[in-house]
Amino acid sequence: MSENTDRLKCLIIGSGPAGYTAAIYAARADLKPVMYEGLQPGGQLTITTDVDNFPGYPEGIKGPEMMEDLKKQAIRFGTEVRFGIVTNVDFSIRPFKMEADDGKTIFADTVIIATGASARWIGLESEMKFRGMGVSACATCDGFFYRGQDVAIVGGGDTAAEEATYLAKLCKKVYMIHRRDELRASKAMQHKVLNTPNIEMVWNSVPEEVLGDSSGVNGLLVKNVQTGESRELDITGFFVAIGHTPNSEIFRDQIKMNDAGYIETIPGSTRTSVEGVFACGDVQDHYYRQAVTAAGTGCMAAIEAERFLGS
Ligand code: NAP
Repeated sequence: MSENTDRLKCLIIGSGPAGYTAAIYAARADLKPVMYEGLQPGGQLTITTDVDNFPGYPEGIKGPEMMEDLKKQAIRFGTEVRFGIVTNVDFSIRPFKMEADDGKTIFADTVIIATGASARWIGLESEMKFRGMGVSACATCDGFFYRGQDVAIVGGGDTAAEEATYLAKLCKKVYMIHRRDELRASKAMQHKVLNTPNIEMVWNSVPEEVLGDSSGVNGLLVKNVQTGESRELDITGFFVAIGHTPNSEIFRDQIKMNDAGYIETIPGSTRTSVEGVFACGDVQDHYYRQAVTAAGTGCMAAIEAERFLGS
């Protein structure tokens, strides 16, 4: 093998809770895993502030700190963590062949895909500015910090509907902003939203600007797309729930995925349509999307990879 070619038992792509948990288990099983961290080392948790719902942290933990700890734990058992991106995969040959942006060609007997998903954002400059200071893409993660306050959520799908009702239990008032006059969410979820007294629908509207100062968000400007009129909402939290995009582009045409790009796994497992390739975390889960469930499937992927190699 040349200096630029690696021959591995197990390659892990992605470094969120799923990837690191897979790495811990794979390393302890002596699979000598190599991990490519990807575009956002540490994954989505590195852009949240406090994580209060991961079991084992009674006082909560900062997202970036938790990811650093997970990384240290993976390295402690021998995972080689590489800063870089896998740019190309070929699952049609054995061992599988991958190329990375550090110039390496990697041949691996098993591949664990843990590339996660990225929240979609509206694209406002002010939205970027206040991310983590009142702007969030995860009500389940951050809603708790806005107890008793007024917040807004944008989106009209099941996620927005679910998160709006979740927020309504914690917050005084929830404005739900939707660009049309009809929700995309399932009828059951629509019914729930429309019958929750402290959710106010703001129909036919889009967020125009997040308002705030050095202590965080203190308002939201929304524009009615039919009348062109703007309205200011007095809120301290702004939640974006307009969908997620799974980070699965490089696996297209290599592996089975659904129309939205989520990798399909065999129910109850992390096995994919290609034997020896396993997928864990948000890249195969649009439903739970929690750090703890991602970690759980990361563990499953490593155990399944180990058993695959032993079979
Ligand atoms: P989604 O169904 O794609 O809905 C996204 C929503 O955001 C839509 O209402 C869309 O408006 C709106 N939107 C998109 N881009 C926007 C923009 N730039 N500005 C303003 N609004 C924008 O996404 P999701 O709600 O995350 O759901 C994803 C999938 O997971 C769906 O299949 C959903 O059914 C499923 N899911 C299921 C459950 C459940 O069963 N409990 C829970 C969560 C999610 P338009 O409607 O105008 O397009």
